[in-house]
Amino acid sequence: MKSIINFLAMSTLCSLIIISSCGDDDDTTVTDAADEATVVDADSDGVVDTADTCADTSEGTNVDENGCDLITDDITTDCITSTAANDIAVIACQYYNDDALTVVVGETTITITSTNEPDHKSMYYDTSNPLFEAYSEPENEDFYKNPNKITAMNYTFTLPRFPQAATNNEDTPFGPMGVSINSVVFYNQQAAPGDDILEELNTFDQYEGHPTNTGSYHYHIEPTWLTEIKGDSTFLGLLLDGFPVYGPVESGVTLTNDDLDDYHGHTSATTDFPEGIYHYHITADLPWINGGEFYGTSGNVTQ
Ligand SMILES: [Zn+2]
Ligand SMILES: [Zn+2]
Repeated sequence: MKSIINFLAMSTLCSLIIISSCGDDDDTTVTDAADEATVVDADSDGVVDTADTCADTSEGTNVDENGCDLITDDITTDCITSTAANDIAVIACQYYNDDALTVVVGETTITITSTNEPDHKSMYYDTSNPLFEAYSEPENEDFYKNPNKITAMNYTFTLPRFPQAATNNEDTPFGPMGVSINSVVFYNQQAAPGDDILEELNTFDQYEGHPTNTGSYHYHIEPTWLTEIKGDSTFLGLLLDGFPVYGPVESGVTLTNDDLDDYHGHTSATTDFPEGIYHYHITADLPWINGGEFYGTSGNVTQ
């Protein structure tokens, strides 16, 4: 998305330069007409017709440098309406960190690619990154920063578009068990073998995430950036089985683990699914996001 915005800014700037130089220079009356002809942009997509392979895209369409519809961005800007049961295509458009994500809704799957780079500040970004911000917790004497740095990853999640309850519930894996709406992956309640998750809580940054020794940033608990900017009852991401994860509050009530089943969810209506759907909730207490097994049949993630 950023490259498109840059491109649009560039082309706007170029148009301005052409117009102002035309106006200022009386000697170029003849070339004025030629210049004007070259800046015609019939579909107003920021790509002049002479460079526009698709000169009739509809208004508001996100286009690539050839002026053609950028399909993956359509998914994240246009919400799909559907009356099919459990069709998570209706929430695919809530994925928003387009610099780090693509979301493609297929007939039976939803494919999400993620570079897993948070859109919020972190003490785990390299100091050269604009999103680097130092952080400490003076009131927590056990706080420490782990030696790892956030690295761009290359995850591809293939999730069922119509998630179904599993007959054999699989354990959640160590590593990504889902992906949040800003591209950051969810990990389960286990630390790496030999490590203690409760000890690792002391290494979480200003938005409650931290990177592995391979640089894979992740959330084990409530991603407070997302609940801060989107609200604490909102859709926050999908687990590998395709079922959605919501914030800790529902209908004005902060949920606890006692409100949820062993998988850490329940079936009820949500804002996005007025007919009801199974969904997970993040709570304040261990195991936070998921109880250790998927409720539904799992999709997969590759790296
Ligand atoms: Zn971790
Ligand atoms: Zn709920």
